[in-house]
Amino acid sequence: MTLDPTDWTAFRQQAHVMLDDMLDYQQHLRQRPTWQPLPSAKQPFFQQDSPLEPQDLPQVHQEFLDHILPYTIGNPHPGFMGWVHGGGTPVGMLAEMLAGGLNVNAGGRHQAPIQLERQLLAWIRQWFEFPPQASGLFVTGTSMANLIGVWVAQRARLGPCLRAQGLAGQTQRALVAYASAGAHGCIAQALDLSGLGTQALHLIPMNDQFQMDPGALRARVRADRAAGLEPFLVVGTAGSVDVGAVDDLADLAALCAQEGLWFHVDGAFGALGCLSPQLAPRFRGIQRADSIAFDFHKWGQVPYDAGFILVREDTLQRQAFATPAAYLRRDTRGAAAGSPWPCDYGPDLSRGFRALKTWFTLKVYGTRALGEMMAHTCTLAQQLGALIAAQPRLELLAPITLNIVCFRFRCPDPNTVNAQLLIELQESGLALPSSTTLKGQFALRAALVNHRTTLQDLEILVAAVLRLGMKLAPKPD
Ligand SMILES: *Cc1c(COP(=O)(O)O)cnc(C)c1O
Repeated sequence: MTLDPTDWTAFRQQAHVMLDDMLDYQQHLRQRPTWQPLPSAKQPFFQQDSPLEPQDLPQVHQEFLDHILPYTIGNPHPGFMGWVHGGGTPVGMLAEMLAGGLNVNAGGRHQAPIQLERQLLAWIRQWFEFPPQASGLFVTGTSMANLIGVWVAQRARLGPCLRAQGLAGQTQRALVAYASAGAHGCIAQALDLSGLGTQALHLIPMNDQFQMDPGALRARVRADRAAGLEPFLVVGTAGSVDVGAVDDLADLAALCAQEGLWFHVDGAFGALGCLSPQLAPRFRGIQRADSIAFDFHKWGQVPYDAGFILVREDTLQRQAFATPAAYLRRDTRGAAAGSPWPCDYGPDLSRGFRALKTWFTLKVYGTRALGEMMAHTCTLAQQLGALIAAQPRLELLAPITLNIVCFRFRCPDPNTVNAQLLIELQESGLALPSSTTLKGQFALRAALVNHRTTLQDLEILVAAVLRLGMKLAPKPD
């Protein structure tokens, strides 16, 4: 019994309809609200019994159009500025379809998709000036990539016995790691998952540019050593999630070299800025990292999900994960050739073909245009900063380093008013910023990651914030 169509002609027609629907969606995004809440009347749709009987494909597709498509968070929309989400592209969408058609399992073996992943690794090495023996792996996202970075650093420090004996077998002093107080929460989570615990991550205060304070880091490393702890890892942030700050990576690299520490960079969205000659100088020092975690699905606009971990020393990444198994026997010829395989570089065995949509995106747009697009979002951020500065009722809450703008409406009780304003703004469908808290101040946060966003979208945002702000708090403070 096969699951293939009995009538391929009808199926083909329906397939073209579905493709056209999605192309229409992408072409006419602007005519939709940025976001709209899922109406409660739609809830029963999500509470049905498991389908025992078959249903026609066109009918299921119609349900998708009615109940799912209109109610995503909206990150492809030009008005979306929430969190740090990429917009995706029509090219990436097509590549996803091709990958789905091939149904590749890219865990390993002798096949072109693995070669393509190695080709991408070679390009990525060049971008970050990493040596030929550097290894890398596509993963879900930077949360996983950071976790792999921490695992490799930990295993490199503690040696191979860790894998058999676990932390219980350790007689060494307790390991500690360092990151900026503005580091993403997944760094602490990575310390947790590595068994070292979140308390093994020492958060270093930031300077007024929201960068990790290098003096404070040096002092803390020395103090920890004196207290009998064993520093092993510094995580630099290249594009902080709150405000887009970039740590002084060259300085962190120098400190790590002096102190014998692993230097990992969380470059989730920022690292790809190296593709822009204009932005690259801000990431100086990233070339000296021991490992870099970053996403193609944010600034790179590759459809979700596509994260990457790059490690300077292939052997260290492989020693951290490779696990022999009889059913994963390698050969020099035949389908099981081509060792080492991607599954030797991380915890996943079966994995999808993330390299394909990334390859299509890089090839079709070229890295020059992608770099220009990223630099353009930074220009837009400066323009938004200027629009805010021109309005006495608005104020910036952090310097604009890259493409993230934190600001608020000025009024009495600004934390309460701006939180309310944000919800009403999101529900208006006009624009979708998110929020963060900076030094106790609630901030509206516009992360300009989407390649579709224009100056016009920023003007819509500012006008809407002013209108809602005046409604909620007519009098200035
Ligand atoms: C988005 C982000 C992450 C997490 O990446 P995911 O791809 O969402 O897992 C980590 N660090 C920073 C700085 C980020 O912006």
